[in-house]
Amino acid sequence: MTRRITVYTDISPETTPGTPVDVVIAGGGPNGLMLACELALAGVRPVVLERLAARTEEARANGLVGQVIRVLDRRGLYERLTGDPEPPRPVPGFVFGALPLNLAGVEDNPLHIIQVPQRRVEEVLEERATELGVEIRRGHELTGLSPDADGVTAEIAGPGGPYTLRTGYLVGADGGHSVTRRLSGIGFPGITRDDTISRTATVSVPASLIDPATGALNVPGYGLVPPFMHHRTEHGLIAYAPFTGRPPVLTTMEWDSTEEGTEPPPMSLDELRESVRRVLGVDLPFGPPEGDGPHLLRRLTSGNTRLADRFRDGRVLLAGDAAHVHSAIGGPGLNLGLQDTVNLGWKLAAVVRGRAPEALLDTYESERRPAAERVVMHTQAQSALIAPGGEVTALRELFAELLRDPANARHIAATMAGSDVRYDMGGGDAHPLTGRLAPDLTLDTGGGTGGGSLRLAELTRTARPLLLDLTRGTSPAKEASGWHDRVDTLTAHSSGASSEVSALLIRPDGYVAWASSSPDPDEGELRDLRAALTRWFGEAA
Ligand SMILES: Cc1cc2nc3c(=O)[nH]c(=O)nc-3n(C[C@H](O)[C@H](O)[C@H](O)COP(=O)(O)OP(=O)(O)OC[C@H]3O[C@@H](n4cnc5c(N)ncnc54)[C@H](O)[C@@H]3O)c2cc1C
Repeated sequence: MTRRITVYTDISPETTPGTPVDVVIAGGGPNGLMLACELALAGVRPVVLERLAARTEEARANGLVGQVIRVLDRRGLYERLTGDPEPPRPVPGFVFGALPLNLAGVEDNPLHIIQVPQRRVEEVLEERATELGVEIRRGHELTGLSPDADGVTAEIAGPGGPYTLRTGYLVGADGGHSVTRRLSGIGFPGITRDDTISRTATVSVPASLIDPATGALNVPGYGLVPPFMHHRTEHGLIAYAPFTGRPPVLTTMEWDSTEEGTEPPPMSLDELRESVRRVLGVDLPFGPPEGDGPHLLRRLTSGNTRLADRFRDGRVLLAGDAAHVHSAIGGPGLNLGLQDTVNLGWKLAAVVRGRAPEALLDTYESERRPAAERVVMHTQAQSALIAPGGEVTALRELFAELLRDPANARHIAATMAGSDVRYDMGGGDAHPLTGRLAPDLTLDTGGGTGGGSLRLAELTRTARPLLLDLTRGTSPAKEASGWHDRVDTLTAHSSGASSEVSALLIRPDGYVAWASSSPDPDEGELRDLRAALTRWFGEAA
C-alpha cells in the first residue's frame, strides 16, 4: 500500500480581541462544536460563541440514530463515545411510529444506533474541538450581526461587556430559536401543534415488575410494556427506558389534554402517575429515582415542525436545529444536524482558504435540504401513526403488515438512517456508490508481507479528500497527481465487499464523488474523474 496523507499546519494563530477571524460559530451545542472540529481539521480555526457559561443540565437526546454513527467513526469519535474499539454494527431491530421494525433478516441493514446522552456527545465534541485548537468563548452571546460584501460584523454580549467581532462567515448553530436566523431575516415556515403533552421523569421501578427475559415492564392488570420502545394504546403513548448505570426514564404522551388559559402547576411524579393511568388504564407503582441527581421531571406541550426557507444568506449560514426542527420521535435530530456540519465544514474551509469559489457553498443547501425534508416527512408520518383513535389503530394494523416484508423494513431503516438521500455529484449517476457515503472497505496494508488490514474509516480521520485506487494498475492515482496538494491518494488492495469497486474519489465528508468498478478504468471514466476532482477541489495545480 502506498499512502500520502497531509496534515495542515498553517492554522492561524490564537485569536486576540479585535483580530478578525475567518469563521464565527454562534452556538456551542453539538452541531456548533462538530462544525468547529470539521473546520479545524480542514485548516480553519473558528471562534465558537456559546451563550451559556456552563453546559446545561437539561436532558435532551438519549442516543444517536442513523448514518451519523458511521460518520463519527470516520473521525475516531465513535470509539470515544462508546469505548468500543470495534467498528459500528447495525442493530437487529428498532421502532417506527411505535411499531416494531424487525431488521434481523434484512440484507445490508443500514441502521446503526448508540445509546449516549447528549451531554456526553457535547463533552466529547468539546474535548476534540479543544484538542484541535478551537477557541470556545463561553458566556458570550451573539446579539447582532451586520453582513456586508466582505464579511460579517458580529455584536456580542460577553462577560466583560458588549464587543464586536469581524468575521468572514458566521454560522448560526444556535438552536431552534436561532438568533442568527431571526437577525438574518430568514423565514422559518412550518406548523406548531399545541394539542400534545408529553411528561417525562427519571423514576425507580420495583424489581418485581421487570420481566427478566426481556427487561420489559410487566404492569399488573395490563401486561408488558417493552423497553426502549414507544408503546401506543388508544389513549396515548408510554415509553420505558431502563438505561444502564442511571435511573430508568418513563415518558407518556397524550393528545387534546392541554387546558387553555390555565397556568399548570409544576410537573410532579403524581402528574406522571395519573397520565400513566389514563394511557394504560391501570396504576403503575413507580417511585422517585434513586441516587444523586440531577433528575429529570419535564412536561412539554406543543411541538414545532419547521424548515428554514434558506440555509444560507450570503455570508451567514444555518446548521442543525437553527435550520430545522421537528418531532423528536425516532431520535433523528443529531443524525440530521451533525451530518449538516460535516457537509458544510470542508466546503466552508475550502472557500475561506481561497481553494474553492463561493458557489461551492450552494451545494450545502442543495445536498442537506432534501435530508431535512425526509426527516420532516418521516417524523410527521410517525406522529400520525401514534395518534389515538380507532382509525389510527386500523392504519397501524396495515402498516405493521407492510413492515413484515423485509424490503419495506429496509426502506424504513434507510429512511431513519438518512442513507436514502443520494447527493447529486454532477456528471450523472454512473456508479451506484456515487453520491452515497463510501462503504467502510477493508484494505490490505501488508501486500502479502505479513502486514495487517485497515478500514477506510481509519484512513479518513484527517478529513482530507481521498482517491482510493484499488486497480492493480495506478491510472486513477496518476490522474489525480495534479491535485496532490489537496487530495490524498492511496493505492491498495482490498478484500470483501470491495470487489464491486476498483477506485473511489471520497470527499472529506465521506461521500463518493466518483467511482469505478473497472480493473482498468477507460479514458471516459478517467475524464469523469478529472471532472469530479475539478468540481469539488478546484483546478489541477
Ligand atoms: C426532549 C428532546 C429529546 C430529544 N431526543 C433526541 C434523541 O434521542 N436523538 C437525537 O438525535 N436528537 C434528539 N433531540 C434533538 C436534539 O436534542 C437536537 O437536535 C440538538 O440539540 C440540536 O443541536 P444544536 O447544536 O443544533 O442546537 P442546541 O443543542 O439547541 O444548541 C444551541 C446552542 O446555542 C446556544 N445559543 C443560543 N443562542 C445563542 C446566541 N445568541 N449566542 C450564542 N450562543 C447561543 C445555546 O445556549 C446552545 O448551547 C431531542 C430533543 C429534545 C428537545
